[in-house]
Amino acid sequence: MSLPRRQFLKGTAAASAGALVAGGLTPSRASGEPPARRAASATTPIIITSHENQTGQNAVEEAWSILADGGMALDAVERGANIIELDPEDMSVGMGGLPNDQGVIQLDASIMDGRTYNAGSVAALENTVHASSVARLVMERTDHVMIVGPAAREFADSFGIPEQDLMTDRTRQAFLRWREAHSENDDWGPPDHLITQGGEQGGPGSGAGAPSSPEGGADFTYGTTNVLAVDANGDVAGITTTSGLSWKINGRIGDSPIIGAGLYVDNDVGAAGATGRGEDVIKSCASFYIVMRMREGRSPQEACEDAIQLIVEKYRNVNPDFVPPEKFVAINKAGEFGCAWMGISGTPHMSVRNGDGLLVYEGTASLQPQG
Ligand code: ASP
Repeated sequence: MSLPRRQFLKGTAAASAGALVAGGLTPSRASGEPPARRAASATTPIIITSHENQTGQNAVEEAWSILADGGMALDAVERGANIIELDPEDMSVGMGGLPNDQGVIQLDASIMDGRTYNAGSVAALENTVHASSVARLVMERTDHVMIVGPAAREFADSFGIPEQDLMTDRTRQAFLRWREAHSENDDWGPPDHLITQGGEQGGPGSGAGAPSSPEGGADFTYGTTNVLAVDANGDVAGITTTSGLSWKINGRIGDSPIIGAGLYVDNDVGAAGATGRGEDVIKSCASFYIVMRMREGRSPQEACEDAIQLIVEKYRNVNPDFVPPEKFVAINKAGEFGCAWMGISGTPHMSVRNGDGLLVYEGTASLQPQG
């Protein structure tokens, strides 16, 4: 999908820190022509996603039309999340998401509506591409917040949502390579392992010949998407949707479906979402913490950085070298936005769409634990 309104923006962000980079990862402008420079203002409506890639940009652009027409933030975040869930190339969400250690794709998702202070979520949901929409059904059609496992699939069945195989060739190959390489103490190995090991026999149970990182092998990966919005009415909504940590233990549930961990929305303040190692996010109630920091007057950018520091400080006496791989995104009711991670490599980005146009925002990376 093309982005007719892609813009090249640089300047002072609405956030307190971080930078705006190209509105689109490959900005198009005539060579030699200087980029348009202007400050992005904090305006509402606004919609953001932690996905800065082309699909993330497409998602906020498409969902923006709902907000521009005076529609609800809740509908906009669902539209945006659904687009990302459908991308088969994205190995962290919905279709094509990476499976667990049994080769089964189990999705987690949550939704929260600031207007009604309602929330819904599903966890370990299988064979259902739009986990976020099932979470919305939990929120709107039941008095519960969370439905998990096979019961979540049965719940989707009851609404006529068809089962769908989410495995793509790419994710199947990634799983097979991971299974062949992840341990030297099992019987899995690539097809030619007897040859590449110089003829040594790898008998059952020995795992001999399983290379530690086969060519093209799939490493352990993180990935999730958060979609957060404020509509023209000032109402706030958010979604977090994911296939969770790759190769997770069957039945493991991450932070994404847990309200306050992977997602939190407060209609008086704003919204926050998390990606990364869900175990840290659950323990720190990170999204709730970020929103509460914003309630105390911190900007979205500052509040995201506060949450990173909170986690780092908790690990200080346990493992001072631990670098949490979390990425936090947030928006407030004024239309300010922020994004931060600890910074294993590079800086974090997110896609932002508001009345100023589409941009990819560069947040901050805290490379050294502080304090
Ligand atoms: N937070 C997700 C989980 O722990 C995974 C991720 O964001 O990478 O399941």
